[in-house]
Amino acid sequence: MDNVTPLGGDVYEIDTRMAGYSGITAGYLILGDRPCLVETGTSTSAPIVRDALTSLGVGPDDLATVVVTHIHLDHAGGVGDIAGYYPSAEIVVHEKGARHLVDPSRLMASARMVWGDKLDTLFGTLAATEAARIRALGDTGAIDLGGGRVLSSHYSPGHAKHHVGLLDSFTGDLYVGDAAGVYLPETGDLRPATPPPDFDLQTALDSVALFGALGPQRLLFSHYGPVADVAGTLERSAEELRVWVDLTRQAHAQGMDLDHAVAMVRDRTRERYAALASEGDDADMAEQFEMLSGAPSNVAGILHWLNRVQPDQR
Ligand SMILES: [Zn+2]
Repeated sequence: MDNVTPLGGDVYEIDTRMAGYSGITAGYLILGDRPCLVETGTSTSAPIVRDALTSLGVGPDDLATVVVTHIHLDHAGGVGDIAGYYPSAEIVVHEKGARHLVDPSRLMASARMVWGDKLDTLFGTLAATEAARIRALGDTGAIDLGGGRVLSSHYSPGHAKHHVGLLDSFTGDLYVGDAAGVYLPETGDLRPATPPPDFDLQTALDSVALFGALGPQRLLFSHYGPVADVAGTLERSAEELRVWVDLTRQAHAQGMDLDHAVAMVRDRTRERYAALASEGDDADMAEQFEMLSGAPSNVAGILHWLNRVQPDQR
Protein backbone atom coordinates (compact mmCIF):
# COMPACT_ATOMS: atom_id res chain seq x y z
CA MET A 1 0.00 0.00 0.00
CA ASP A 2 1.42 3.40 -0.89
CA ASN A 3 0.18 4.90 2.36
CA VAL A 4 2.12 2.45 4.58
CA THR A 5 5.76 3.15 5.50
CA PRO A 6 7.86 0.73 7.57
CA LEU A 7 9.78 2.55 10.31
CA GLY A 8 11.72 -0.40 11.73
CA GLY A 9 11.07 -2.35 14.92
CA ASP A 10 7.82 -3.77 13.49
CA VAL A 11 6.35 -0.25 13.43
CA TYR A 12 4.43 0.96 10.38
CA GLU A 13 3.33 4.51 9.68
CA ILE A 14 -0.09 4.70 8.06
CA ASP A 15 -1.16 7.87 6.25
CA THR A 16 -4.80 8.10 7.37
CA ARG A 17 -5.49 10.71 4.68
CA MET A 18 -7.74 13.08 6.56
CA ALA A 19 -10.24 14.59 4.12
CA GLY A 20 -8.22 13.07 1.27
CA TYR A 21 -5.00 14.96 2.07
CA SER A 22 -1.71 13.06 2.07
CA GLY A 23 0.95 13.51 4.71
CA ILE A 24 -0.99 15.38 7.37
CA THR A 25 -2.47 12.72 9.69
CA ALA A 26 -0.53 9.63 10.72
CA GLY A 27 -1.63 6.49 12.49
CA TYR A 28 0.85 3.79 13.49
CA LEU A 29 0.63 0.02 13.64
CA ILE A 30 2.91 -1.79 16.08
CA LEU A 31 2.92 -5.33 14.72
CA GLY A 32 4.02 -8.34 16.76
CA ASP A 33 2.17 -10.83 18.92
CA ARG A 34 -0.48 -8.35 19.96
CA PRO A 35 -0.88 -5.79 17.15
CA CYS A 36 -1.68 -2.30 18.37
CA LEU A 37 -3.01 0.63 16.36
CA VAL A 38 -2.00 4.08 17.64
CA GLU A 39 -4.48 6.74 16.37
CA THR A 40 -7.37 5.82 14.09
CA GLY A 41 -7.53 9.07 12.15
CA THR A 42 -10.96 10.43 11.32
CA SER A 43 -14.13 8.44 10.76
CA THR A 44 -13.73 8.83 7.00
CA SER A 45 -10.17 7.45 7.38
CA ALA A 46 -11.40 4.17 8.88
CA PRO A 47 -11.71 2.20 5.60
CA ILE A 48 -8.25 3.43 4.58
CA VAL A 49 -6.79 2.28 7.88
CA ARG A 50 -8.54 -1.09 7.56
CA ASP A 51 -7.07 -1.60 4.08
CA ALA A 52 -3.61 -0.72 5.42
CA LEU A 53 -3.95 -3.23 8.28
CA THR A 54 -5.16 -5.90 5.86
CA SER A 55 -2.10 -5.31 3.68
CA LEU A 56 0.06 -5.85 6.76
CA GLY A 57 -1.66 -9.17 7.48
CA VAL A 58 -3.83 -7.98 10.35
CA GLY A 59 -7.26 -9.56 10.00
CA PRO A 60 -10.54 -8.76 11.75
CA ASP A 61 -9.73 -10.84 14.84
CA ASP A 62 -6.02 -10.03 15.00
CA LEU A 63 -5.95 -6.46 16.26
CA ALA A 64 -5.45 -6.56 20.03
CA THR A 65 -5.46 -2.86 20.90
CA VAL A 66 -6.49 0.52 19.58
CA VAL A 67 -5.06 3.45 21.54
CA VAL A 68 -5.52 7.17 20.90
CA THR A 69 -3.31 9.95 22.26
CA HIS A 70 -6.42 12.09 22.74
CA ILE A 71 -9.98 12.27 21.50
CA HIS A 72 -9.80 15.12 18.98
CA LEU A 73 -11.46 13.92 15.79
CA ASP A 74 -8.31 13.87 13.65
CA HIS A 75 -6.91 11.28 16.09
CA ALA A 76 -9.93 9.39 17.41
CA GLY A 77 -12.79 10.14 15.01
CA GLY A 78 -12.52 6.62 13.60
CA VAL A 79 -12.57 4.75 16.92
CA GLY A 80 -16.21 3.62 16.63
CA ASP A 81 -15.75 2.37 13.06
CA ILE A 82 -12.44 0.65 13.80
CA ALA A 83 -13.90 -0.97 16.94
CA GLY A 84 -16.63 -2.35 14.67
CA TYR A 85 -14.17 -3.77 12.14
CA TYR A 86 -12.00 -5.36 14.86
CA PRO A 87 -14.31 -6.91 17.45
CA SER A 88 -11.47 -8.34 19.58
CA ALA A 89 -9.64 -5.05 20.01
CA GLU A 90 -9.57 -3.27 23.34
CA ILE A 91 -9.96 0.51 23.00
CA VAL A 92 -7.56 2.44 25.24
CA VAL A 93 -7.92 6.15 26.02
CA HIS A 94 -7.26 8.53 28.89
CA GLU A 95 -10.01 8.51 31.50
CA LYS A 96 -10.96 12.12 30.72
CA GLY A 97 -11.78 11.11 27.14
CA ALA A 98 -13.44 7.73 27.68
CA ARG A 99 -17.03 8.89 28.13
CA HIS A 100 -16.91 10.86 24.87
CA LEU A 101 -16.10 7.68 22.95
CA VAL A 102 -19.09 5.96 24.57
CA ASP A 103 -21.40 8.91 23.91
CA PRO A 104 -19.90 11.19 21.26
CA SER A 105 -22.89 13.59 21.14
CA ARG A 106 -21.32 16.40 23.16
CA LEU A 107 -17.97 16.11 21.42
CA MET A 108 -19.64 16.18 18.01
CA ALA A 109 -21.84 19.15 18.99
CA SER A 110 -18.85 21.21 20.10
CA ALA A 111 -16.89 20.22 16.98
CA ARG A 112 -19.90 21.32 14.92
CA MET A 113 -19.77 24.72 16.63
CA VAL A 114 -16.10 25.13 15.75
CA TRP A 115 -16.13 23.71 12.21
CA GLY A 116 -19.70 24.21 10.96
CA ASP A 117 -20.37 22.60 7.60
CA LYS A 118 -16.69 21.73 7.16
CA LEU A 119 -17.08 19.11 9.91
CA ASP A 120 -18.50 16.50 7.55
CA THR A 121 -15.81 16.77 4.89
CA LEU A 122 -12.89 17.17 7.32
CA PHE A 123 -13.81 14.61 9.97
CA GLY A 124 -17.08 12.75 9.42
CA THR A 125 -18.96 11.49 12.46
CA LEU A 126 -17.45 9.71 15.47
CA ALA A 127 -19.50 6.54 16.05
CA ALA A 128 -20.18 5.34 19.60
CA THR A 129 -18.17 2.52 21.17
CA GLU A 130 -19.58 0.14 23.78
CA ALA A 131 -18.32 1.03 27.24
CA ALA A 132 -17.30 -2.60 27.83
CA ARG A 133 -14.75 -2.36 25.01
CA ILE A 134 -12.98 0.65 26.52
CA ARG A 135 -10.12 0.74 29.02
CA ALA A 136 -9.54 4.13 30.63
CA LEU A 137 -6.02 5.21 31.55
CA GLY A 138 -4.99 7.18 34.61
CA ASP A 139 -1.74 9.14 34.93
CA THR A 140 0.18 6.11 33.68
CA GLY A 141 -0.78 2.80 32.17
CA ALA A 142 0.55 -0.11 30.15
CA ILE A 143 -0.47 -1.82 26.93
CA ASP A 144 0.81 -5.36 26.38
CA LEU A 145 2.29 -5.61 22.88
CA GLY A 146 3.28 -9.28 23.37
CA GLY A 147 6.67 -10.91 23.83
CA GLY A 148 7.50 -8.74 26.82
CA ARG A 149 7.12 -5.55 24.80
CA VAL A 150 5.07 -2.83 26.46
CA LEU A 151 3.62 0.49 25.37
CA SER A 152 3.48 2.68 28.47
CA SER A 153 1.18 5.69 28.64
CA HIS A 154 2.04 8.99 30.29
CA TYR A 155 -0.56 11.65 30.97
CA SER A 156 0.48 14.78 29.07
CA PRO A 157 -2.16 17.53 29.21
CA GLY A 158 -1.73 21.11 27.95
CA HIS A 159 -2.92 20.64 24.36
CA ALA A 160 -5.93 18.73 25.65
CA LYS A 161 -6.89 17.56 29.11
CA HIS A 162 -7.34 13.98 27.82
CA HIS A 163 -3.89 13.65 26.18
CA VAL A 164 -1.33 10.89 26.72
CA GLY A 165 2.11 10.16 25.29
CA LEU A 166 2.99 6.52 24.59
CA LEU A 167 6.47 4.99 24.97
CA ASP A 168 7.44 1.72 23.29
CA SER A 169 9.76 -0.32 25.56
CA PHE A 170 11.33 -2.10 22.56
CA THR A 171 12.10 0.77 20.16
CA GLY A 172 12.12 3.74 22.53
CA ASP A 173 9.60 5.40 20.20
CA LEU A 174 7.49 8.07 21.87
CA TYR A 175 4.10 8.75 20.29
CA VAL A 176 3.69 12.45 21.07
CA GLY A 177 0.20 13.09 19.68
CA ASP A 178 -0.16 16.89 19.52
CA ALA A 179 1.57 17.67 22.83
CA ALA A 180 4.88 18.57 21.15
CA GLY A 181 3.21 20.52 18.35
CA VAL A 182 2.80 19.92 14.64
CA TYR A 183 5.84 18.91 12.59
CA LEU A 184 6.15 19.28 8.82
CA PRO A 185 8.66 16.71 7.52
CA GLU A 186 9.01 18.47 4.16
CA THR A 187 10.56 21.55 5.78
CA GLY A 188 11.41 20.47 9.34
CA ASP A 189 9.12 23.21 10.63
CA LEU A 190 7.49 22.80 14.01
CA ARG A 191 4.55 24.86 15.23
CA PRO A 192 2.62 24.65 18.49
CA ALA A 193 -0.94 23.32 18.74
CA THR A 194 -2.74 25.39 21.38
CA PRO A 195 -6.48 25.17 20.66
CA PRO A 196 -9.30 26.09 23.03
CA PRO A 197 -10.60 25.16 25.49
CA ASP A 198 -7.90 23.23 27.37
CA PHE A 199 -4.64 24.95 26.46
CA ASP A 200 -2.52 25.92 29.45
CA LEU A 201 1.08 27.09 29.04
CA GLN A 202 2.72 25.64 32.14
CA THR A 203 0.88 22.35 31.76
CA ALA A 204 1.94 22.15 28.12
CA LEU A 205 5.57 22.93 28.99
CA ASP A 206 5.49 20.35 31.79
CA SER A 207 4.32 17.71 29.31
CA VAL A 208 7.14 18.55 26.89
CA ALA A 209 9.61 18.27 29.80
CA LEU A 210 8.08 14.94 30.80
CA PHE A 211 8.59 13.66 27.26
CA GLY A 212 12.27 14.57 27.49
CA ALA A 213 12.60 12.90 30.88
CA LEU A 214 11.23 9.63 29.48
CA GLY A 215 14.41 9.38 27.39
CA PRO A 216 12.84 8.42 24.05
CA GLN A 217 14.96 7.36 21.08
CA ARG A 218 12.60 8.83 18.51
CA LEU A 219 9.46 10.98 18.40
CA LEU A 220 6.50 9.88 16.30
CA PHE A 221 4.27 12.84 15.48
CA SER A 222 0.63 12.34 14.57
CA HIS A 223 1.23 15.37 12.32
CA TYR A 224 3.52 14.07 10.87
CA GLY A 225 5.98 11.21 11.07
CA PRO A 226 9.19 10.20 12.86
CA VAL A 227 11.87 12.58 14.15
CA ALA A 228 15.24 11.33 15.39
CA ASP A 229 16.58 14.55 16.97
CA VAL A 230 14.66 14.17 20.22
CA ALA A 231 16.34 16.80 22.40
CA GLY A 232 16.51 19.50 19.72
CA THR A 233 12.92 18.92 18.68
CA LEU A 234 11.49 19.04 22.20
CA GLU A 235 13.49 22.19 22.87
CA ARG A 236 11.88 23.69 19.78
CA SER A 237 8.45 22.54 20.99
CA ALA A 238 8.88 24.50 24.22
CA GLU A 239 10.27 27.54 22.40
CA GLU A 240 7.33 27.56 19.97
CA LEU A 241 4.87 27.53 22.86
CA ARG A 242 6.65 30.46 24.51
CA VAL A 243 6.86 32.52 21.30
CA TRP A 244 3.16 32.14 20.47
CA VAL A 245 2.11 32.83 24.04
CA ASP A 246 4.37 35.91 24.29
CA LEU A 247 2.98 37.41 21.09
CA THR A 248 -0.62 36.60 21.94
CA ARG A 249 -0.07 38.06 25.41
CA GLN A 250 1.07 41.33 23.78
CA ALA A 251 -2.03 41.37 21.58
CA HIS A 252 -4.19 40.67 24.62
CA ALA A 253 -2.54 43.47 26.62
CA GLN A 254 -3.25 45.86 23.75
CA GLY A 255 -6.91 44.84 23.82
CA MET A 256 -6.93 43.41 20.29
CA ASP A 257 -9.89 41.32 19.19
CA LEU A 258 -9.31 37.79 17.89
CA ASP A 259 -9.01 38.76 14.22
CA HIS A 260 -6.40 41.42 14.89
CA ALA A 261 -4.51 39.21 17.31
CA VAL A 262 -4.41 36.39 14.75
CA ALA A 263 -3.16 38.74 12.04
CA MET A 264 -0.44 40.12 14.31
CA VAL A 265 0.77 36.73 15.55
CA ARG A 266 0.66 35.24 12.06
CA ASP A 267 2.69 38.11 10.71
CA ARG A 268 5.30 38.07 13.46
CA THR A 269 5.81 34.29 13.43
CA ARG A 270 5.83 33.89 9.64
CA GLU A 271 9.58 33.99 9.17
CA ARG A 272 10.09 31.22 11.74
CA TYR A 273 8.69 28.66 9.28
CA ALA A 274 10.31 27.69 6.00
CA ALA A 275 6.90 26.56 4.77
CA LEU A 276 5.63 30.14 5.05
CA ALA A 277 8.76 32.24 4.64
CA SER A 278 9.46 31.68 0.95
CA GLU A 279 8.43 34.27 -1.62
CA GLY A 280 4.83 33.51 -2.52
CA ASP A 281 3.97 30.88 0.07
CA ASP A 282 3.90 27.26 -0.81
CA ALA A 283 0.13 27.12 -0.75
CA ASP A 284 -0.09 23.43 0.12
CA MET A 285 2.20 23.65 3.14
CA ALA A 286 0.57 26.82 4.39
CA GLU A 287 -2.79 25.08 4.10
CA GLN A 288 -1.51 22.10 6.10
CA PHE A 289 -0.39 24.34 8.93
CA GLU A 290 -3.69 26.17 8.89
CA MET A 291 -5.64 22.95 9.11
CA LEU A 292 -3.60 21.33 11.88
CA SER A 293 -2.30 24.19 13.99
CA GLY A 294 -4.11 27.14 12.47
CA ALA A 295 -3.22 30.59 13.71
CA PRO A 296 -6.90 31.32 14.53
CA SER A 297 -7.19 28.15 16.60
CA ASN A 298 -3.83 28.63 18.33
CA VAL A 299 -4.43 32.28 19.17
CA ALA A 300 -8.01 31.61 20.29
CA GLY A 301 -6.75 28.88 22.61
CA ILE A 302 -4.09 31.12 24.13
CA LEU A 303 -6.55 34.02 24.54
CA HIS A 304 -9.05 31.67 26.17
CA TRP A 305 -6.36 30.65 28.66
CA LEU A 306 -5.24 34.26 29.28
CA ASN A 307 -8.82 35.27 30.03
CA ARG A 308 -9.23 32.35 32.41
CA VAL A 309 -6.06 32.59 34.52
CA GLN A 310 -5.28 35.05 37.30
CA PRO A 311 -3.47 38.18 36.10
CA ASP A 312 -0.28 37.27 38.01
CA GLN A 313 -0.06 33.95 36.15
CA ARG A 314 -0.40 35.41 32.66
ZN1 LIG B 1 -4.24 16.66 15.91
